[in-house]
Amino acid sequence: MAGTGVISASMLYAHLTCPHRVSMDAHVDPALRDPVSPFVEMLWERGTLYETEVIARVGQPFLDLSGLEGDEKERATREAIARREPLIYSGRLSDGELLGVPDLLRFENGGYVAIDIKSGAGAEFLSEDESAETPFKPKKTYGVQLALYTDLLARLGVSAGCYGYIWDVYGVEVRYDLKAPLGPRTPSLWEVYLECRRAVGEALGQPGVTRPAMTSTCKPCVWRSACAKTLRESEDLTLLPELGRARRDVLATEFPTVRDLAVANLERFFQPGGKKTTFRGIGPETLRKFQRRAALLQEKDPQPYIRKPWTAPSGDYELFLDVETDPLRDWCYLHGVVIRDGTQGGREHFEAFWMETLTPVGERDAFASVWNLIRSRPGAVIYVYSAYEKTQYRKLAARYPEVCSVEEVDALFGPGGRVVDLYTGVVRPSTEWATEDFSVKTLAKRLGFKWRDTDPSGASSIQWFDEWARTGNGTVKQRILDYNEDDCVAMRVLLEGIKKLPVRPD
Ligand code: SF4
Repeated sequence: MAGTGVISASMLYAHLTCPHRVSMDAHVDPALRDPVSPFVEMLWERGTLYETEVIARVGQPFLDLSGLEGDEKERATREAIARREPLIYSGRLSDGELLGVPDLLRFENGGYVAIDIKSGAGAEFLSEDESAETPFKPKKTYGVQLALYTDLLARLGVSAGCYGYIWDVYGVEVRYDLKAPLGPRTPSLWEVYLECRRAVGEALGQPGVTRPAMTSTCKPCVWRSACAKTLRESEDLTLLPELGRARRDVLATEFPTVRDLAVANLERFFQPGGKKTTFRGIGPETLRKFQRRAALLQEKDPQPYIRKPWTAPSGDYELFLDVETDPLRDWCYLHGVVIRDGTQGGREHFEAFWMETLTPVGERDAFASVWNLIRSRPGAVIYVYSAYEKTQYRKLAARYPEVCSVEEVDALFGPGGRVVDLYTGVVRPSTEWATEDFSVKTLAKRLGFKWRDTDPSGASSIQWFDEWARTGNGTVKQRILDYNEDDCVAMRVLLEGIKKLPVRPD
């Protein structure tokens, strides 16, 4: 464990995930931490397990320093480097304020490069178009860690060059060229690293240089209760749905609190022509939208409303569709559908299409079954909540073209198709709720719906699936099915709630 003032690779990772995290870890009483979520614990376990598996089948001799700790480990690493060991596992390097424990150090091109083993994809997938020039781009969170190890190797005078490797979950060795620009107007990973290193050093140096912000990254974070308390006490702007850290930082000088934004005369900030405001990257419509949300929160008994009338499309059946995926194994393991039968007075039932075997055939069969259901109900309206189902179905169609084509998925989800994305099409553009986010969980709960499970979340579902995958436990599988069914019912509750919202134009 690094002492105060020491910058480690995990701190750079944490900083990119949330710029306030390092400060909380360094300066706040650990007693205020929430318990680590089972989902995060599972990620750690999976990471360790995967690393052990990879090391067990590395296929060439290597020096294993994983049994050593601290100074002893570092001394052994330096000695191994001095005698040019070809491959060093679990070494330790430090210099000045930097400390790194790269998974592997490999001797090549007259020096050493760092290799990290990751139980995720080695790069971000950008395009399904195989002819695209850059269908993948490196992950910054991986890149800054490799950059720290490379910095240490360079300081010790033994670096093979400004690059490193990720050994990823697909068994691919992905090269990270740290000085290559990430895009025409984007800095290189090395520049990202230098900025992270500076910011982490500053955050470690004194408390209060960073601020919390209510974002989706808070959900699995151990500081979520502590930060939420601070944010609510200070009426922080990030309590407004979708405002986020970057906009808060731009707006905070003029509007330190939700109350300040609610009562402000916005005209003062509109530039001549009315198309821009004095706030970088925030247009007049966006500013008005957040003022609307701030004003609603100031009301005594704030009630949700819709800004213009909306009529749900009619169909003989309505399908409320929700998929569950395991991003670590890259499986889409469940398609849950609540089917409401308009021809039978709105009677409804739940159907689940489960990946029975952890194989491509298992995934394909589940997809084929739900696709058959969709095809067999050509007059049905299909409700989803977010673009996630479309993204998944495009991916599955590309993977299993014998089930359906990507074009068929596009036709179903695209303009003129039968799918209604309640979140993107209705909730976001037309409704206000006086809540801190617009997730289906938050809004359905606002309407009085209760999940049967005590810990309902997508992250929990992934963790339960992991348990089922390892044990085949039927109780765990049923827990996932119940949770997914409740998600689908919640969507129906939300649809009915939206239909009853009072219309309140701006
Ligand atoms: S709770 Fe949110 S703001 Fe606070 S440290 Fe965690 S991610 Fe950052």
